[in-house]
Amino acid sequence: MESKEIRKRFLAFFEKKQHEIVASAPMVIQNDPTLMFTNAGMNQFKDFFLGNAEPSSNRIADTQKCLRVSGKHNDLEEVGMDTYHHTMFEMLGNWSFGDYFKKEAIQWAWELLTVEFELPADRMYASVFGGDEADGLEMDQEAYDFWAAIIPEDRIINGSKKDNFWEMGDTGPCGPCSEIHIDLRSDEEVAQTPGKDLVNMDHPQVVEVWNLVFMQFNRLSNGSLQNLPAQHVDTGMGFERLAMAVQGKQSNYDTDVFTPLINFLADAANVKYGEDEKADIALRVIADHVRAISFAIADGQLPSNNKAGYVIRRILRRAVRYGYTFLDFKAPFIHTLVPLLAEQFDGVFPELIAQKDFITKVIMEEESSFLRTLDKGLSKLEVITAEVKKGTKIIDGKTVFELYDTYGFPFDLTSLIARENNLSVDEEGFKKEMEIQKNRSKKAAETSAGDWVELKPIEEVQFLGYESLASKAQIVKYQAIEEKGKKLFKIVLDQTPFYAESGGQVGDTGYIADGDKKISILDTKKENNLIIHFTNELPANLEAEFDAVVNGKRRKLTENNHSATHLLHAALRQVLGTHVQQKGSLVNEKSLRFDFSHFSKMTDEEIAQVEKIVNQKIRENIALDEKRNVPIADAQALGAMALFGEKYGDFVRVITFDKDYSVELCGGTHVPATGTIGLLKIVSEGSVAAGVRRIEAITADKAEEYYNKQNELITQVNELLNNPKDPLKAIEALVKEKQELAKVIESINQEKAGAQKAILQKAIQSVNGYNVLISEAQLPDTDGLKKLSFELKNEVDNLIMIVAADIAGKPQISIMIAEGLVKSLDLHAGQLIKELAKEIKGGGGGQPFYATAGGQDLSGLPNVITKAKAIIDGITNH
Ligand code: ATP
Ligand code: MG
Repeated sequence: MESKEIRKRFLAFFEKKQHEIVASAPMVIQNDPTLMFTNAGMNQFKDFFLGNAEPSSNRIADTQKCLRVSGKHNDLEEVGMDTYHHTMFEMLGNWSFGDYFKKEAIQWAWELLTVEFELPADRMYASVFGGDEADGLEMDQEAYDFWAAIIPEDRIINGSKKDNFWEMGDTGPCGPCSEIHIDLRSDEEVAQTPGKDLVNMDHPQVVEVWNLVFMQFNRLSNGSLQNLPAQHVDTGMGFERLAMAVQGKQSNYDTDVFTPLINFLADAANVKYGEDEKADIALRVIADHVRAISFAIADGQLPSNNKAGYVIRRILRRAVRYGYTFLDFKAPFIHTLVPLLAEQFDGVFPELIAQKDFITKVIMEEESSFLRTLDKGLSKLEVITAEVKKGTKIIDGKTVFELYDTYGFPFDLTSLIARENNLSVDEEGFKKEMEIQKNRSKKAAETSAGDWVELKPIEEVQFLGYESLASKAQIVKYQAIEEKGKKLFKIVLDQTPFYAESGGQVGDTGYIADGDKKISILDTKKENNLIIHFTNELPANLEAEFDAVVNGKRRKLTENNHSATHLLHAALRQVLGTHVQQKGSLVNEKSLRFDFSHFSKMTDEEIAQVEKIVNQKIRENIALDEKRNVPIADAQALGAMALFGEKYGDFVRVITFDKDYSVELCGGTHVPATGTIGLLKIVSEGSVAAGVRRIEAITADKAEEYYNKQNELITQVNELLNNPKDPLKAIEALVKEKQELAKVIESINQEKAGAQKAILQKAIQSVNGYNVLISEAQLPDTDGLKKLSFELKNEVDNLIMIVAADIAGKPQISIMIAEGLVKSLDLHAGQLIKELAKEIKGGGGGQPFYATAGGQDLSGLPNVITKAKAIIDGITNH
């Protein structure tokens, strides 16, 4: 059975059991401070478990893109080493929100596996939670009994808290779980060792396929458990592991989910999968990682230097390294897998096909730049090994760490190269450095939070900010937090005019007031779907009815920039083409920033054309057409562009400025009509990442300020030029005049140097066959002095020349000695000049035959002459 069919059947099975089938949430998470990436199917439903929001159906099923490379669930180091952990994988899941519970969850799971997929019942084991003293929890007898009704009791296992109590993170929804494990070994092996002994023992063919979690608790920040308002089911089954079982394979990489990638790679590397352990690991690592990277990019997370972007960059680098070291891929290659991957997910996750070229380009650039770093690192390592060979023969921990940190060399690669050179590495020292860095970044990121204090039960928070900038409000709940040593409070209001940062638009600021007691709202952010107001104090009377008031001026300026972003987006697609897609934006009261996919630098003409279109649309004063609660299909029929990586509900908000010009899905706030924006000016255009350009622009008063400043500058220039009729011509004339004057000066200088040369020639004295010239001089520039020195050397035999010159008020010494004399007299101009330069408070140097020095003290020139004469006399007169 092909994997596509397996996925389909899973969803159809639960659809038949009245589950609503929903789309996967993006793998990259945007509005959750506790999670960077989706690590389980339940993440997108967190609010339903916590009672913060209502699901559209109390039974849901889906396949969810997950990534387990950071935080509580991090499998990165296993990936490639084993055959059943991936970075990115699909989690098939079915959910009950306060509907069915343990009985149905267990029965249906069993039915799906044994009837629908015909997996052997006698090769499966179920585990149940065995209880935990510290948490005061007893064993899950209920789940045990339901299993005992289906399978023999000797195939039920009591599991520990580690394996059978599921938690999303340090806090949040959690509960006991029941896992289904399958034994895929051969009959002979099974006869030798019973599968039961191998459950949860990291055996690659006795693996967990499905986890049924019974959500009952909320873990608080002090570690204690609180009952959730209702009981829920949350199940997660690894799609790739299920495919392994159904297809009768012994490794996820032998299923049709991975074989096309593995074969393609093995061909390119000219190896056979399954023949060499090291090459096999590398093939698995790359086949796995290309999925994680591609889906992350498709969801809008580009590789970068911080946070989620850095996690993606590190995954990519891990893949490049394995290819480089074990498959001899010395040029970018991972990006060539993207078309194949996109093909595979056609009809399942359309975001790959739709952005195939973009993803390919981003990965290729990233690969090339890392390969360059690797090369640099290798040459550095060569230098280090040569050095270490002479000494201790151990590469110290600090150096190993530096290679890791700056050049992406992991410990194992460095020690491999060390071994090849008969050296060893200081592993302890390396670990210590790693620890130090970890602590440093931990400290930087440290935030602590108390538990939420609930004041008022509420169904759903009302956002009033589309209509008004002020409203009455009561506090629903609050939480004290500490961020980088600063105490803050998060407040949730029952209704609020405050816009929470999202879709690139900054959160509102303002205040809440109880009578004349005002408390500032410093920022507003979204956490999942909750609107959180940040303050640094709590009101005295928490239960008061407050006036919630938004800083209206700031909001309106922000709206100018937000609406301008929509106009800009449409203009860019007109001018550059429809491949232009929004890749990020930032909109605040000062300016707007818009990132979009496009492969080359915009020309000045293109920029001017975009500005022209946008300003035209501003002057047309197009009224805002805002539609809320539009079914997503209808919105797309209107031509609205959905952005990949955004999580849209079934109903969306559509913002239109002229239905033939700009239609976008957007939750932000906008101007009532485009005329309000006044004017748009693009101030910069540049590259932010491979294939992504960034435009920065200003609008309204900021744009006016910009033009005023430009104008003022021109006025000042005109004044300097005495207000000519045509300032451009006046400046051209000035430039020309300056060039002509420079020529005149040049020829005067030459004349002066010529005259000076004649004087110096006369001052040459013949002493015992040497032509000695020791003299002061006056020259317009140092070049003249140099030229003169060389001319005299060529014209006069046996020359010993020391000239102390006044060069436009600065002292300068030049020494020139005929090359034959350098040896015979053992004279060294470079050394002699050091002695003489002392007299002018300066320094210099040069070759044995020619040297120069500059100084500070012009009055020292006569002393230079005296000293020079004394020295040269001593040499020439003996
Ligand atoms: P394991 O112990 O094998 O790491 P887990 O206990 O971490 O699994 P859960 O958190 O219960 O797994 O996730 C639910 C299901 O998702 C698992 O039963 C498994 O089939 C699948 N799964 C978990 N982690 C991965 C992974 N890294 N790659 C592929 N599938 C996974
Ligand atoms: Mg795990």
